[in-house]
Amino acid sequence: MHKQNRKAFIEKMGRGGVAIFASAPPARWNHDTEYIYRPDPNFYYLTGFEEPEAMCVIAPEHPKHQYVLFVRPKNKQAEIWNGKRVGVKAARKRYGADKAYPIEKFDEKIGEYLQDAERLYYTLGSNEDVDTEMLARFTRGVKSKVRGGKGIDTLVDPSPILSELRLIKNETELERIQLATEITVAGHVAAMKAVRPGLYEYQLESLVESTFRMNGAGGAAFPTIVASGGNATTLHYTTNDCEIEDGNLVLLDAGAEYGRYAGDVTRTFPANGTFTEAQREIYQHVLDAHHAIIDGIRPGVSIDAPHQQSIELLTEAMLSLGLLKGKAEKLIEKEKYRQFYMYRIGHMLGLDVHDVNCVRKANGDYKTFQPGMVITIEPGLYVAEGTKGVPSKYLGIGVRIEDDILVTESGNKNLTSGVPKEIDDVESLVRGGK
Ligand code: CA
Repeated sequence: MHKQNRKAFIEKMGRGGVAIFASAPPARWNHDTEYIYRPDPNFYYLTGFEEPEAMCVIAPEHPKHQYVLFVRPKNKQAEIWNGKRVGVKAARKRYGADKAYPIEKFDEKIGEYLQDAERLYYTLGSNEDVDTEMLARFTRGVKSKVRGGKGIDTLVDPSPILSELRLIKNETELERIQLATEITVAGHVAAMKAVRPGLYEYQLESLVESTFRMNGAGGAAFPTIVASGGNATTLHYTTNDCEIEDGNLVLLDAGAEYGRYAGDVTRTFPANGTFTEAQREIYQHVLDAHHAIIDGIRPGVSIDAPHQQSIELLTEAMLSLGLLKGKAEKLIEKEKYRQFYMYRIGHMLGLDVHDVNCVRKANGDYKTFQPGMVITIEPGLYVAEGTKGVPSKYLGIGVRIEDDILVTESGNKNLTSGVPKEIDDVESLVRGGK
């Protein structure tokens, strides 16, 4: 897959360019401990290489080495403490580099790959030390171009090219997303079976995330949200420290990561297995919008269409629930819906849970859906405690229903429809688990 990705990237580079990518620096947890290492998504997309302190050079016009890796060399002592390293030899054999060097040789060797380049592709901000080095080389390149007519005179950010490529998933990416979403489904179903009043939110979080790991996921693709009762009206609630009470709805937003690709699903279900009348009313409106919006997704439709549709449908819902009063058209114009629905309908999904966001064309218009895109659709209604001027029965109710949608040639495929969402199905799954 990575070879195919590099090929696609090179095709977009044009002549005279050399691209340099730095691996992400490790993130510190505290003084001598680091977070589990996570490669930069673009770096990973092009190389598949997952260790820190690595550099990737793509030099399409170099006579011998079009793809070069600089990596940490094997080191017995360091490996005893911090685990095995791929090393220089396997960087070539296993990762397909035409040439590999120890990372220490970067300064010495990079000149050879840059000598005939006119354009340097590098994303500033990817690594502070490398930024400094690249800017220095760029400045020298510009001077030498002025003096001798040869040298780098343009610094180009490769991210837009990569975002464009990552927007359409290839077969291997889709296989991984398929697995990530299957495991995500398993986590949600386990949670719905296990939920009951008296559990703590973190216990459900632990069950969901252990189900992910038990099924082979790398872990959660983002911090799991388990929001019971009024907590559901806080969009990114992650403290998960409250006791789930009888009569509460539980909003669970969680996704597994498999092969670095993310799933992302939200379900909202009654802890005791029965929606109250008020919960049911709000839920059914969100569910109707969810179905209608997904039905409209197919190649050629504007990527913005689901959002516009969600505003219309949810504003109508707010009117019929009595959350808003007035004319839909005026309320939409004044963005009154934002009090109860305050974000965009969904996001692209891939190596990042909020994946590449290059959804507009150069002229600012939205692109259209194409086969191979994966987007979340997640309408919701949130009535925070203390909201004035709304029927009191709705206070503290937050509902979101989110699925992962693959755009196909003929329309779309819901990758996460395995988690029940019709009211009867949700109730019987929650009750059946007891
Ligand atoms: Ca989500």
